Amino acid sequence: MTRIVVVGNGMAGARLVGEIRARDRHVGLTVFGAEESQPYNRVLLSNVVAGTMPPEQVRLLDPAWYADHSVTALPGVEVTAVDRENRAVLTATGRREPYDVLVLATGSEAVVPPVPGADRAVTFRTMDDCRRILRAAGAARHAVVIGGGLLGVEAARGLAGRGLPVTLLHLAGHLMDRQLDAEAGLVLGQTLGGLGVRTRTGVVVEEILDGGVRLAGDETVEADLVVLACGVRPVTGLAREAGLEVARGIVVDDEMRTDDPSIFAIGECAEHRGRVYGLVAPAWEQATVVADIVTGADKAARYRGSRLVTRLKARSVELAAMGETHLTEDDAEVVRFSHRAAGTYRKLVIRDGRLVGVILLGETSAVGNLTQLFDRGGPLPGDRAGLLFPGPQGNAVAESPVRMPDAAKVCQCNDVTKGQIRACWESGARDVAAVAAATRATTGCGGCRDAVEGIVGWLCEQEGVSA
Ligand SMILES: Cc1cc2nc3c(=O)[nH]c(=O)nc-3n(C[C@H](O)[C@H](O)[C@H](O)COP(=O)(O)OP(=O)(O)OC[C@H]3O[C@@H](n4cnc5c(N)ncnc54)[C@H](O)[C@@H]3O)c2cc1C
Repeated sequence: MTRIVVVGNGMAGARLVGEIRARDRHVGLTVFGAEESQPYNRVLLSNVVAGTMPPEQVRLLDPAWYADHSVTALPGVEVTAVDRENRAVLTATGRREPYDVLVLATGSEAVVPPVPGADRAVTFRTMDDCRRILRAAGAARHAVVIGGGLLGVEAARGLAGRGLPVTLLHLAGHLMDRQLDAEAGLVLGQTLGGLGVRTRTGVVVEEILDGGVRLAGDETVEADLVVLACGVRPVTGLAREAGLEVARGIVVDDEMRTDDPSIFAIGECAEHRGRVYGLVAPAWEQATVVADIVTGADKAARYRGSRLVTRLKARSVELAAMGETHLTEDDAEVVRFSHRAAGTYRKLVIRDGRLVGVILLGETSAVGNLTQLFDRGGPLPGDRAGLLFPGPQGNAVAESPVRMPDAAKVCQCNDVTKGQIRACWESGARDVAAVAAATRATTGCGGCRDAVEGIVGWLCEQEGVSA
């Protein structure tokens, strides 16, 4: 019997185990997870901090599932070494687990900036971090979040939603500078300002003190809770020490195989064609490819890379961004609309007649249609303004499931199309929960819930079925 060992029981590892079992009931399967908790949906931790979801609602798999599926799951057990010569992993608890196939799914760790007092702050990556943040938030009078990327913005918005005054400090000149251009960053900052988050950009943190954060220039921002959202770093130590090729992440080919043919790597620890992804959709796609290959279900399966759509999960802040959003009129055709007072910013970046970048801030009803155009990379219709402002006869997917083609991707995280939702409805699924159970749509970041609800409602209406 083939023995498969998975190191890391986060979003990639947990998905892989499920995918393998869906294809093969008999292969030996052991998964080690350094975290004490059962695997959970890390993406939804922002909702836990915001108080819109209880911690128990974000669980992915539980002990009963492992028992029912004959999987040996070892939470709280860290793998400390890989003995490639004898094909076994060694754990911190002294266990030696032999493997035929090893999959590294060790994810990322939060970056802690090298400033004095950093140990007074809390990182934002794990369920334990979340619990620490929530405990401290209960007694805090003023919070500071350091890092104005996606995570920092979500953390700041979440804490402000709990009634805590929050200051968001960011080193770069504007918020979410990896996904947004300067104007969008500014509009986002203004929107957050109206929600209780004071934003400071272009600031350098020099020290974290007992009751505040000292900035360059000797200014101190008051805080009795400091959250670090300063980026992540792939966890590659195990692979490096085992002599595998590691660049920024563990280097893999299109099979997600490392330079040792019996070892694969997936998720945020993997580097594929020079890219390390920081979102869950690629991790889940990679898990499917590896499951296909190691079970023999489809030995020809390959991962070719992903086109990413980033969506913010922050109450009252609608934001979606994809592709090359930073390009300007010097390099591309740019269609842009900004209305700071309304918190709205929209931008399309077009090259050679094709959509290569999008920012939608404040209102995202056009996101479905634009995502399709971005994904397909086909020629755009001539009416550019109509793309930014889809009217009732326009092409807004979210507003009209009728006009959405079957190939349109509705759930980005799980790669589910409208056609799959329709097929699932036709075989009896009559509500979002049933569609989610059959296709997994809505179970990633949850951003597509309204769209799925719209499609199911429309199908029910068409057929005169009550949802
Ligand atoms: C608050 C937050 C919000 C996010 N929001 C979004 C979003 O909206 N959309 C999106 O697409 N992505 C989002 N992400 C990113 C997403 O969570 C990650 O892309 C995803 O979790 C990556 O999965 P992974 O399995 O590669 O890594 P992880 O989920 O980090 O899992 C890796 C696991 O491996 C374990 N591990 C590491 N080393 C060892 C070892 N030696 N032995 C045993 N176990 C080990 C770790 O403890 C960890 O549990 C968010 C992340 C956070 C923190």
